[in-house]
Amino acid sequence: MQKVLFVAHCVLNTASKVVMFSDEEMAEEEALRRRFLEAAISSGVQLVQLPCPEFSAFGANRWGHVSNQFDNPFFRKHCRELLLPFIDQMREYLAHGERFEILGVLGIDGSPSCGVDYTCFGNWFGNFSDRTDLNEVLNSCSMGHGSGIFMQVLKDLLSEYGITQCVHLHGLFASEPEKCMGLLT
Ligand code: SF4
Repeated sequence: MQKVLFVAHCVLNTASKVVMFSDEEMAEEEALRRRFLEAAISSGVQLVQLPCPEFSAFGANRWGHVSNQFDNPFFRKHCRELLLPFIDQMREYLAHGERFEILGVLGIDGSPSCGVDYTCFGNWFGNFSDRTDLNEVLNSCSMGHGSGIFMQVLKDLLSEYGITQCVHLHGLFASEPEKCMGLLT
């Protein structure tokens, strides 16, 4: 029996990530990412890399966003188009349950797109120049319970195709490492 895990794109390719400026935050996530990958490979888990919805929409020089900004029909449509081929892959693995077990999907908690249990919220919009309340606006960002838009669209698709009970979502989150490490035990 082969175990298959679908992972957010940057679990395997951190070059897709928005540029971060907190060394501490990056180091914590990177340490868990490496620990998780080493354990996954050692235990023979097969990893399927989902596409990065932000890199493919906005490129490498994008700003950081909050989930409110991506909560629009255009980004949701982009996510849906990216995810549909992976829904087909999931359905095919599930159709051969004697050979494959889907362990689930691993997202990135805190991401406006790939957060599973946590995402970031804020009242962000508009031009940076000439505004006098930039610090106040930036500080309105907070992390809270909820999923990013890519994971919301994925949940909708799992429901649409009747496979919600077969494919569970989990988040990679440095503060709660047991969530991703538990997938491999
Ligand atoms: S959008 Fe998702 S896959 Fe892309 S960098 Fe952010 S968390 Fe990773």
